[in-house]
Amino acid sequence: MLCRNPVRLTRDSSRKSVTKRGVVKLAKFKHIQIPTEGEKITVKNKNLVIPDNPIIPVIEGDGIGRDIMKATRRVVDASVEKTYGGKKKIVWMDIYAGENAQKLYGTVMPDETFTAIKQYIVALKGPLTTPVGGGFRSLNVTLRQVLNLYACVRPVRYFEGVPAPVKHPEKMNIVIYRENTEDVYAGIEWEKGTKDCKTVIDFLNKKFKLSIRSDSGIGVKPISVTATKRLVRKAIQHAIDKNRKSVTLVHKGNIMKYTEGAFRDWGYKLATTEFRDKIVTEDEVTTKYNGKAPEGKIIIKDRIADSMFQQILTRTDEYEVIATPNLNGDYLSDACAAQVGGLGMAPGANIGDFVGLFEATHGTAPKYADKDMINPGSLILSACMMLEYMGWEEAAKKIERSIEQTIRNKTVTYDLERQMEGATKVSTSEFATHIINNMP
Ligand code: NAP
Repeated sequence: MLCRNPVRLTRDSSRKSVTKRGVVKLAKFKHIQIPTEGEKITVKNKNLVIPDNPIIPVIEGDGIGRDIMKATRRVVDASVEKTYGGKKKIVWMDIYAGENAQKLYGTVMPDETFTAIKQYIVALKGPLTTPVGGGFRSLNVTLRQVLNLYACVRPVRYFEGVPAPVKHPEKMNIVIYRENTEDVYAGIEWEKGTKDCKTVIDFLNKKFKLSIRSDSGIGVKPISVTATKRLVRKAIQHAIDKNRKSVTLVHKGNIMKYTEGAFRDWGYKLATTEFRDKIVTEDEVTTKYNGKAPEGKIIIKDRIADSMFQQILTRTDEYEVIATPNLNGDYLSDACAAQVGGLGMAPGANIGDFVGLFEATHGTAPKYADKDMINPGSLILSACMMLEYMGWEEAAKKIERSIEQTIRNKTVTYDLERQMEGATKVSTSEFATHIINNMP
């Protein structure tokens, strides 16, 4: 899906004017300043076209976002420089959301932030505070829905030396594809006691002869063929691209037959129609291949969600790629991350057909804001996913190897230090410096 051949592109200059500080301001952006150097990532013939100096929009984030984004940019810049010797370079472009947007625009989520991500395609994001009370349900959910970032991708693997609650954390190496747009997260719900809620309950009780209690709140759980197929397609394609052995559809179809059960059925259907020559189902392995999958074929299997929580603990290494509806995916992602040592090191991305927003999985941890203390690992590893998405795998691998080395050296931030014997506590910025210095 990715094009590794850089193509030189020209930017529409008719809408730009150079300011005193040497930055270009596109007329249609109010506060976003487009750097004079750098080029847009584009899509051509259904492929991403990555120039050598792509402009990457970056949302710094609230709270600890400021510290971890600074650290992440330094690490990424150093790795790209060391890997490509100056031939490639990321040109960062600040865009705004959360507290900094509120100051600049008077709103926490300005329209031009969405526009910039749509136009520049690949973006990096720090954590954002979810305003309590009216306004947006969540800035993160809004970003995912408005940009149609339908797959939440969470790779979970173990870094040697990280304290973990299980005996063999190294057995976990899973990528979770969580559906991002529907299920009970679609936001279709009515509060108990409201007129609308009563209308819905009365309608259901009357039309379908149900007996929903009048003091209920109501939520709707839509699961569509469309959203299921595009999610499962991405998960299987990932397994193909990365030589993974299996894709597991995780669902609660024994109870919710027409939503979760349908997710499983549509998932199998997609696998056996669009990827027939690349996959076998687990059932076929038993009935046709005597219990042993043919060499090079990806096994498509399914597990009921509650059983899956046991399986990740007891048969961890039997799972490689997981595709699952929204709620299961939310729970599973955090459970898997906890098993290998917690959210501080868990990266994530929200991806649509082309647009990819790469982000830390933890929140803004306000009590640590601007204290130069927090672990930037999650955001740095999310940036590694971003580099891979761009086809810059070598730069991503360099960072990952260096993080492994830094943890082996036991020079870590407070969260890991407090659990590791004989470790040295370092600040966020020092941790980044160690990662840079340890790069192979
Ligand atoms: P949180 O910000 O993730 O922090 C909870 C705790 O997790 C921290 O106090 C800290 O624990 C630990 N932690 C988080 N990030 C860490 C890191 N990088 N390194 C080490 N430890 C880390 O969760 P929250 O306090 O529930 O949420 C705060 C705000 O963030 C809320 O407004 C929430 O809506 C928002 N949020 C945003 C996102 C997002 O933008 N994607 C995701 C989740 C939450 P210790 O104190 O034990 O060290």
